[in-house]
Amino acid sequence: MTPTRTHTDILNAAGLTATDLAGGDLAVHSPIDGAEIARLRQTPAAQMPDIIARAQSAFKVWRSVPAPRRGELVRLLGEELRAAKDALGAVVTLEAGKITSEGLGEVQEMIDICDFAVGLSRQLYGLTIASERPGHRMMETWHPMGPTAVITAFNFPVAVWSWNTALALVCGNPVIWKPSEKTPLTALASMVAFQRALARFGDDAPEGLVQLVIGGPETGAALVESPAVAVVSATGSTRMGRIVGPKVAQRFGRSILELGGNNAMIVAPSADLDMAVRAIVFSAVGTAGQRCTSLRRLIVHNSIRAELVEKLKTAYATLPVGDPRDAGTLVGPLIDADSLARMLAALEQARAEGGQIYGGERCDAVAGGAYVTPAIADMPGQSAIVKTETFAPILYVMGYDTLEDAIDLQNDVPQGLSSCIFTLNLREAEAFLSAVGSDCGIANVNIGPSGAEIGGAFGGEKETGGGRESGSDAWKAYMRRATNTINYSAQLPLAQGVKFDI
Ligand code: NAD
Repeated sequence: MTPTRTHTDILNAAGLTATDLAGGDLAVHSPIDGAEIARLRQTPAAQMPDIIARAQSAFKVWRSVPAPRRGELVRLLGEELRAAKDALGAVVTLEAGKITSEGLGEVQEMIDICDFAVGLSRQLYGLTIASERPGHRMMETWHPMGPTAVITAFNFPVAVWSWNTALALVCGNPVIWKPSEKTPLTALASMVAFQRALARFGDDAPEGLVQLVIGGPETGAALVESPAVAVVSATGSTRMGRIVGPKVAQRFGRSILELGGNNAMIVAPSADLDMAVRAIVFSAVGTAGQRCTSLRRLIVHNSIRAELVEKLKTAYATLPVGDPRDAGTLVGPLIDADSLARMLAALEQARAEGGQIYGGERCDAVAGGAYVTPAIADMPGQSAIVKTETFAPILYVMGYDTLEDAIDLQNDVPQGLSSCIFTLNLREAEAFLSAVGSDCGIANVNIGPSGAEIGGAFGGEKETGGGRESGSDAWKAYMRRATNTINYSAQLPLAQGVKFDI
């Protein structure tokens, strides 16, 4: 069924007006059909110092607002997002090309992190620590860090902002958001929801608490390079992280880097193959392979390799590729033609490295969009292309004989985001999760590598950057820790028994 709402209808429903969408030189295209849907004004470089100064002023006010009160703003944001879920989800679909349920799922993730952060606003706990000195108490307290830059990628255009912003706000930090230049409209629409929450909150929220800047890498660089920006949370390619990480480190700022992944699944002989097939297909082709946690490498025990590959080919043959707004579609478009070209080039290289390719054919599901059938590349080993993250639906398949070999293959890539094993063997499952198992930030058993819940800390090791966001104690990255010792005695004993009598 062809959707009846126009691009403009969808943008208007999310609160964006004709004035928001025109008058600039940043052309925004929908990956659905390549149509230009807006021309946005970019934030001039000359305005960046003022924007950062506004965030610094906002910090001076916001850090003193009690954390549970800060949580109230995030609670209201969650309410506004609930009300705007359909409208905002449709903009995600329009601008990032996600199928409808994934667009809505992304907004749900925003709502979930708001709920999490509201609870967190009453749980920013520090420890009380036993002091070695009599009549002393030692403790730690957590304080806000300061202005936080949130630089986001196109593929999770709103969820990643909310993971960072919900936490940064309850932790007492103002936020400056630089979304991907490919998805600025979802950012504008998210800010509409935020402004509604702010209007309901009351007047103890300072001006400039959350600001949006529009532009490409140079706009991000202004935030990265400013010593006034205390935290830089940057999500995107490892190429970007290699530039951003050292710049922030150079000025001793704090960075949270969420970079590329090259996620694997090990399928052991005891695996429930039907369940594994469902998990593989969802995690390899969902979001057209454009999740940082997409499954890219399948490491299958040689005794079941042929059978599993046949089952996958059967499943792939029926995958509906098409307009992401259509109810039956499971695979939408790639973000743009460059992305498709990179996928086709990767498949060429895989062929040259001895791979047998199934699928990976360009298709014209909707004129003007970059549509492709997901590919399976049966590889003779973990060659150079398999170790590279290609942000598209390519699944490389390799065989193994012993679990040790499988774990070696799993870990022998530069990236370390997500991983999983399908097995019914307890020893194998536990070994995979142990210190000698997966080296990734996320390691699962009998679940695919993608689709993380917000309750856990999200992020990965090695070239994935080492950052953690979202749940667990990821909030600590947005705060600074102070260790406090209080002497309530009438003596002044020194630590380590040092004597210094005067
Ligand atoms: P990208 O690196 O091209 O861009 C990401 C963001 O960084 C954009 O906002 C961009 O403008 C900005 N940027 C780029 N260079 C910069 C610079 N020098 N200084 C400051 N900002 C700069 O990534 P993309 O194509 O939008 O997204 C896809 C990539 O993101 C994939 O590699 C994917 O794995 C990764 N990703 C990782 C996670 C994670 O949590 N680990 C989540 C989503 C996406």
